Amino acid sequence: MTIIDTLLEPRWIITVNDDNEVLENHSLAIHNGVIVDILPTQQASKQYQANNTLQLEGHALLPGFINSHTHAAMSLYRGLADDLPLMEWLQEHIWPAEQQHTNQEFVKVGTQLAIAEMLRSGTTCFNDMYFFPDETAKIATEIGIRACVGLIVIDFPTVWANDADEYIHKGLQLHDQLRHQSLITTAFAPHAPYTVSDAPLQKILTLSEELDIPVHMHIHETTDEVNDAIKTTGKRPLQRLSELGALSPQLIAVHMTQLVQNEIDSLATQGAHIVHCPESNQKLASGLCPVQDLLDAGINVALGTDGAASNNDLDMLGEMRSAALLGKIASMDAQAVNATTALRMATINGAKALGIDVVTGSLEVGKAADISAIQLNSIETQPLYDPVSQLVYAAGREQITHVWVAGKHLLNSRKLTSIDEVSLLADVATWQIRINNS
Ligand SMILES: [Zn+2]
Repeated sequence: MTIIDTLLEPRWIITVNDDNEVLENHSLAIHNGVIVDILPTQQASKQYQANNTLQLEGHALLPGFINSHTHAAMSLYRGLADDLPLMEWLQEHIWPAEQQHTNQEFVKVGTQLAIAEMLRSGTTCFNDMYFFPDETAKIATEIGIRACVGLIVIDFPTVWANDADEYIHKGLQLHDQLRHQSLITTAFAPHAPYTVSDAPLQKILTLSEELDIPVHMHIHETTDEVNDAIKTTGKRPLQRLSELGALSPQLIAVHMTQLVQNEIDSLATQGAHIVHCPESNQKLASGLCPVQDLLDAGINVALGTDGAASNNDLDMLGEMRSAALLGKIASMDAQAVNATTALRMATINGAKALGIDVVTGSLEVGKAADISAIQLNSIETQPLYDPVSQLVYAAGREQITHVWVAGKHLLNSRKLTSIDEVSLLADVATWQIRINNS
């Protein structure tokens, strides 16, 4: 008998490995935060003596979701301004609110709220872009969730920095501080082509190559963005980025609702990653990302919620369903973005985009125990012919019962173990009053 930390005994294990295997009546063994074995349950009980054994009858285990694009702290602006197009929403509501309210304390509480919501919906890793990324990293580490923290860069002054050079300088300092953190990685996060000029972009691209970290950017989010760029620069934003040398496997291009065939071809050739945010794109009426065309071209497409101010939730189960449904409309093909594809976009494809697929993104021996358990024997997902179909097309996040990150049990029977929910809600209420009164 081998002694291990934890043995999980679910009905199904949805591995999201290369063969998309779904195993029935198998157990998953965790030791020192790592998946050390996946084997038939009968065999597991003979082979392992676990300090904790959890029987999960009627449950499926799946890899924790990777929310590949969000602005966690913006949870405090959830519902502040709805039913508006992107630029009006940004310029008349979000940017003024940020100028007035966003500070370190705001980011602390907003990020805690976002992480609490993400854990309660099965997300174990998020790719963030916001001010005070030092605070985001600190909160994520304290709670124990995995994160890629965006080193934000924007041309104009904000509470975080005064000019592009200062943003880059502070980003580099933070990257240095975080280098040895096991759960936190970093990416440069130039906000968008229309808010970051050539000189800082060039600097970022050189640094990203030197440091081997991704560049995470909103690109081609709306037709207006593309048309305005043509007016002012004579080029589509992707053309300009391509000339700067930005198209590479380091690029995490978010949204991409406006793409023509030669752009898709060059993104594929250069190995860039794309993050699709179907609900944010629908809510801001930004446009349709041609997801199936991108996948057919061999591009890695991941999935993100965007911030809670434009979604308005951080629910990757809902996002998978939206991606699958919207993908069919975008292609006018019911076979487009099938359930398995949507699940891969929400898990392993995100890990690939963030460059952490050797660590997470699927349930395989040797990877970190970043796992969620979903209860599928409830009314809402019965009868059950295919667990992946239920997961994508029928299940709700309330059915997520347990979550582990690197083997740490962060959600236990829907209770958060590393967040004080009562004091978090009190802090959120204080911010609501402050923002409401202004
Ligand atoms: Zn965004």
